Amino acid sequence: TETILRVEDLKVWFDVKKQGAMPWVKPRKLKAVDGVSFELKAGETLGIVGESGCGKSTLARAVMQMVPVEDGHVVWLGDELVGLGTREMRRHRKEMQMIFQDPLASLNPRMTIGQIVAEPLKTHFPHLSSEEMKAKVREALETVGILPNMLNRYPHEFSGGQNQRIGIARALVVNPRLIICDEPVSALDVSIQAQVINLLMDLQKETGVALIFIAHDLSVVKHISDRVMVLYLGNVMEVAPSAELYANPQHPYTEALISAVPIPDPKLEKAKEVMLLDLDLPSPLNPPSGCVFRTRCPIAEPRCASEKPVLADKGAAHMVACHLR
Ligand code: SF4
Ligand code: MG
Repeated sequence: TETILRVEDLKVWFDVKKQGAMPWVKPRKLKAVDGVSFELKAGETLGIVGESGCGKSTLARAVMQMVPVEDGHVVWLGDELVGLGTREMRRHRKEMQMIFQDPLASLNPRMTIGQIVAEPLKTHFPHLSSEEMKAKVREALETVGILPNMLNRYPHEFSGGQNQRIGIARALVVNPRLIICDEPVSALDVSIQAQVINLLMDLQKETGVALIFIAHDLSVVKHISDRVMVLYLGNVMEVAPSAELYANPQHPYTEALISAVPIPDPKLEKAKEVMLLDLDLPSPLNPPSGCVFRTRCPIAEPRCASEKPVLADKGAAHMVACHLR
């Protein structure tokens, strides 16, 4: 199968200044994404997992060129995206769409859902007649299970799950080759989560769209992902085909994430993280030297503080960044 996306040694660094700092104080670098590489094939689903603050959303936005890239490459269908202006990006943006964590906040409250789903069509296919647009909007909404007689309603009239379906319809209407899903189910009730995930899987079967599916919980990405990538403090810890990763986790961080017993209550999620990895996530402004995971790693050795492990191929497309594995 064709590789549609190639990300190479991607770095996204933000300048962070202490609040109230004097103008001559140099800002510090927050390395939100620090050298991430991966490939994505047509129709494939890559799950990206890690705790809050580990760089998942920033990585997604960097692929879409929504945040400035410090260094590295994002090659989309053979074209380098890094350094492209908004105008040149528009052509590619129609093929790579995004859905977000908070469905209501990501939909314009003053627009009807018909207008919301029509918007990307107006941007990317301005030559379509209004009849053609209406037909496409209806079809997209129908595909996600929203009845056409609801076209003139507003987002606040729908539930969180329905609004996420509307967000999916908006992404789908331009017939993209990739949809980046940034924690699309984290804000939804557990009972609704599976429905949205199943919908995405069905749509993928029908359209062949590739997905990047971001979550903070490994169990959420398990069924939808062909491969899973585990991120920690802007670095890739492990990547493997989904079944292989769950059956045979190699990185101590992945092991810790997998040994988490899923507690089906979003309010308990935080408590679970703390129990599991009992030390706090270090500040990305001041990441540990050597292996970024070493301050929480149960098997760290002295050299973990001085040498950064490289992501190495362990066979069967299983890549691990750890000196001891
Ligand atoms: Fe732990 Fe060292 Fe491996 Fe990092 S390199 S995960 S600190 S053993
Ligand atoms: Mg995020």
